[in-house]
Amino acid sequence: MYDIIIIGGGPAGLTAATYARRAGKSVLVIEKNAFGGQITWSPKVENFPSVVSISGTELGDLFLAQAMEQGAEVELEEVISVSAGEVKTVKCLSGAEFQARALIIAAGARPRMLGLTREEELVGSGVGFCAVCDGAFYKGRPVAVNGGGNSALQDAMLLSETCSKVYLIHRRDSFRGEAKLVEALRARANVEFVLSATVTELLGDKELTGIVVEQQGRRREIAVEGLFVAVGHQPDVKAFENLIALDGQGYALSGEDCLTKTSGVFVAGDCRSKSVHQLTTAVADGSVAALAACAYLDE
Ligand code: NAP
Repeated sequence: MYDIIIIGGGPAGLTAATYARRAGKSVLVIEKNAFGGQITWSPKVENFPSVVSISGTELGDLFLAQAMEQGAEVELEEVISVSAGEVKTVKCLSGAEFQARALIIAAGARPRMLGLTREEELVGSGVGFCAVCDGAFYKGRPVAVNGGGNSALQDAMLLSETCSKVYLIHRRDSFRGEAKLVEALRARANVEFVLSATVTELLGDKELTGIVVEQQGRRREIAVEGLFVAVGHQPDVKAFENLIALDGQGYALSGEDCLTKTSGVFVAGDCRSKSVHQLTTAVADGSVAALAACAYLDE
């Protein structure tokens, strides 16, 4: 029996672990993929206060090292369900079960898909969501990135260093991501902006060979071997729907103290309903949720 189980080992979850351990609580962090979470996909993080520039993987490692240094226990498991009463029981895909008196859900979000025919089938065969992870496979080849946020801009920047050509496709003609990144991309000779454009078809049989883009009423075929979809994320809270209320977009509702509708169950980070989903707001949530969980345990 732990004091607190934290589901999700990204910045929010690991910050919560550090705070809860420093408050003297026993803590287990359960992560299903990679500790560090989504930030490990960012090649460069330059907006985390006090750190001028760091790779997302390095930053993720630091979050984990800090939580473990404070004595947090960690498990690589996929949580499939949670039952909550006075004691919260967490069931994992492997059959493992863990129990705690309080729970912090910091399960993050996963990449949103475009919803195109054969998109799922081509994931791993040309369609991808993580340039840091898969970009190296496309060295010297033409690729496209779809999206207009910081993820798309950073992906395009990274890919332009090794790929022969990068088409940056965005549905509007102005970007949601940082102007500084847009400017840097405009200066790259092998980056072509395809704006006010939508990807409508994926070409190729077993492997992606191209995409069809609709741009201001015109149909254009572009030969690419990779398409990196970077059109935002959707919260990963399916396994907890019995414990939490969701907003219209599927994010977990909570108060300022990160408390959900269920006593002793808190939510933190990108899966929480709020106006700004950033690394800084994820770590802020982690600390708030941990302190609220500690107060709940001490009541
Ligand atoms: P985002 O900022 O939500 O951007 C998503 C982009 O995808 C938007 O440009 C949006 O277009 C477009 N889009 C959404 N649905 C689409 C669809 N169905 N078809 C075509 N385009 C679609 O997501 P993100 O880039 O993943 O970033 C998420 C958060 O993480 C942001 O707050 C971002 O700043 C942050 N982030 C930070 C770093 C860092 O270095 N610290 C790195 C990456 C991301 P519209 O603009 O037209 O809505």
